[in-house]
Amino acid sequence: MTNDVQILNNGYPMPAVGLGVYKIADEQMEEVVRTALDAGYRAFDTAYFYGNEKALGSALKHSNVERDELFITSKLWNDYQGYDQTIEYFNKSLDNLGLDYLDLFLIHWPCENDQLYIESYKALEHLYEEGKIKAIGVCNFKIHHLEKLMKETKITPQVNQIELHPYFNQQDVQDFCDEHDIKVTAWMPLMRNKGLLDDPVITDIAHRYDKTPAQIVLRWHLGHNRIIIPKSQTPKRIKENFDIFDFNLELTDVAEIDSLNKNARQGKDPDDVSIGDLK
Ligand code: NDP
Repeated sequence: MTNDVQILNNGYPMPAVGLGVYKIADEQMEEVVRTALDAGYRAFDTAYFYGNEKALGSALKHSNVERDELFITSKLWNDYQGYDQTIEYFNKSLDNLGLDYLDLFLIHWPCENDQLYIESYKALEHLYEEGKIKAIGVCNFKIHHLEKLMKETKITPQVNQIELHPYFNQQDVQDFCDEHDIKVTAWMPLMRNKGLLDDPVITDIAHRYDKTPAQIVLRWHLGHNRIIIPKSQTPKRIKENFDIFDFNLELTDVAEIDSLNKNARQGKDPDDVSIGDLK
């Protein structure tokens, strides 16, 4: 199975499908990573906050896949925003993962009330210029956060990772990112299997294509030119979520899934998250 690749605005290639590892316990990581690599995944999305960077790094090391075949993303946790702490905690993430560079490093939440994201991003720019990160970006940034960031810093973010699924398609943010060549990565692309995959529109399309509901939703994301990082610790689902490169959705089916949007955010509204709020 060949993964699609998205070219970031600095020319760096990023696999369109990666494995999200939020909530994957250390003791499961070896098996999950082995299953994912065997299925064809090469991109893995973790964060300092997830507490599993060490387990991921060690599982990847044991796999013997060459470093330059992998695409590893981690994120700066809210509590460590600010220029010096960003450098310090980037180095902790790097150490945890046992790597000497990251492919992508993201600011996890803007935490606008604390007014530290510009400084934090400047530290990312510094690390990028030193070659310790191949691409930099943000998560959970709304248009107003992006506008401020782009006005006050030099490098347009390569990625904005946001909550995105058929019930919450954030079309305004997607349009802004498309216009500025910022790649959108969808987190919670399957809406954590809480209702979306039983939606009759999705199950009907799945039946017609002889695919699973998850495969239909993931293919819908790819059709919108997004990067996706579905999480699963179930071997069958890990494989299923990567097995989406042998079909395309008809435009009428894409439009039908688009019409499911009801602006139903499941996670936190980024404007309501300040440093220390999330534990
Ligand atoms: P997802 O939408 O990826 O859903 C994961 C859930 O769906 C799990 O319970 C999983 O179960 C289940 N699932 C996975 N595949 C299937 C399938 N084929 N059929 C049915 N159920 C399935 O949600 P996440 O919130 O985990 O988002 C994905 C990733 O995004 C995270 O792991 C993390 O890397 C990133 N993220 C980033 C955030 C940010 O602020 N930047 C916030 C939240 C997530 P099981 O594992 O039991 O198979």
